[in-house]
Amino acid sequence: MPVTSRLRRFGQRLSPLYLIIAAILASAIALGIYSYRNARQLRDQGSTSLVELNRVNGAQMLRRIDNYIIDSDRQFFDLVDLEHLQDFQKRWGEIVRLSEAIEAALVLDESHAIVNKGFVSKRPSAEAENFRRIFLKEILPKMPLNELPVGLHKHLHIVVDGRDYLISYIKREQKLADGTTRTYVIAIKINLDYLQQRFFPEEFKKLEGGVQYAVLDNRDRVVFGERVKAPSFRYEENFPTTLYLWRLQMAPTEAARIDAEARARRISETALIALMVTTILAGITFLIYAIAKEQRANQLKSDFISNVSHELKTPLSVIRMFGELLALGKLKTPEQGKEYADIITRQAERLTQLIDNVLDFARIERGKAAYDFQMGDLAEVVTRSVDFYRYREGIQLSMHIDEDIPEILIDENAMTLVLLNLLDNAVKYGGERPDVTVALRKVDAGLELKVSDKGQGIPRDEQRRIFDRFYRARAARVKNTRGSGIGLSLVKHIAEAHGGRVTVESAADRGSTFTVFIPQRTAPEAGEHEEAA
Ligand code: ADP
Repeated sequence: MPVTSRLRRFGQRLSPLYLIIAAILASAIALGIYSYRNARQLRDQGSTSLVELNRVNGAQMLRRIDNYIIDSDRQFFDLVDLEHLQDFQKRWGEIVRLSEAIEAALVLDESHAIVNKGFVSKRPSAEAENFRRIFLKEILPKMPLNELPVGLHKHLHIVVDGRDYLISYIKREQKLADGTTRTYVIAIKINLDYLQQRFFPEEFKKLEGGVQYAVLDNRDRVVFGERVKAPSFRYEENFPTTLYLWRLQMAPTEAARIDAEARARRISETALIALMVTTILAGITFLIYAIAKEQRANQLKSDFISNVSHELKTPLSVIRMFGELLALGKLKTPEQGKEYADIITRQAERLTQLIDNVLDFARIERGKAAYDFQMGDLAEVVTRSVDFYRYREGIQLSMHIDEDIPEILIDENAMTLVLLNLLDNAVKYGGERPDVTVALRKVDAGLELKVSDKGQGIPRDEQRRIFDRFYRARAARVKNTRGSGIGLSLVKHIAEAHGGRVTVESAADRGSTFTVFIPQRTAPEAGEHEEAA
């Protein structure tokens, strides 16, 4: 099809109806997106305040713990008197013992060696000695003492042999009497056991309302509290200054429940929106289908009307012409009069058949097809119908009927209509000199009637549709063969009313065979009475 006519057809199809459908579709999509966003926003708003509160609580807790450690260090540093370093062990040993957060303290000289008696610890001596060794070997090298400005208080959080150490340290200067200055480094080991076992419990007890919390180390082990699972509400942050390898987790106790509820709501809202959009889409799809079907049916109907009018016109004009000739008496021989009368009779027969077809079809369409089933002889129906065609010129017709064809339950008039339609088609579409074979056989559960021709055949893709009412195959339309498109739909309806079926086998240019199967029955089945009523 050329592009321009395609475009024209597209334009015709683009009726306001399709525009409305497109608008509905767009609205449905917009509505879906809007509802989804709205639902999400509402959900988020509900939880934001809770999350915010939790975040503030968490940050406060981190700051409090940090500050406590820093304050403990500072107090100690302030007390260290560099003038009397020789008394360090004696005097500061006492302070270390009294300060719960501090476990040990050291004073280092300029060469970063521990000054004489510059190490105090409140642990038993073996343990204290062990720490001193670890400090010198593992911890001290990690302390950036050379770059450390005087008076700046720093922290080192380090893991040695799977144990956490928190060291606070500061560089101090002392002016000597001779005017020179000496620098020292004071380092403190923070008592992590005390923090974990005493300080943390007390601090966290102060939290009001249902809060879950945990402190985790850098190997993801719980150091304190209980791991918090609900991810969407969880506040999780490392200690900023002191215990920077550890992190705090915190969440409202309700979090797990709220989380689960939110998830459930999300699922149901999404499902609802999806259902809504799907329903609208399904509705639109159905609408488009129905409109297309209606348009097709309308098209077929108008084709049908023009086809039938055309069908009626041709025999009528022939009858009129030969009738007028007869009336004028313009006959050369008496035989010619007979010939004219024969022509008129044949055309009248054609008209009758056509009108019968239309009337029967109309009855079927109205659902008022009345069948009169009686035990009858299908062989006789076949013979009579074939006789009707036998003496036509230019047609080769052969018939085969099995012997002993039993009587079966049929509507003889309807079956005659089936045969006349199939024969008419075989002749119409059978080519220049139609070669038609009719066969009636006894098969397993009934009788099988075959009408074959050697004509143009029917392409595969049209073989199913030819049984639809008003449908005419492309070839018939192109060649303008007379017809109305209702013959085969009548055949199908009648075959099915008999409990049977009609099928076609055909190949292009190799002819077609229509097979009608009528089952052997002795009484009409339930349901047929209704139609017959
Ligand atoms: P029509 O009045 O057009 O013949 P039918 O319902 O009898 O209507 O047939 C439907 C279409 O099937 C025909 O238009 C024709 O294209 C095709 N058809 C029917 N019988 C034959 C046949 N024997 N050979 C080829 N085509 C056929």
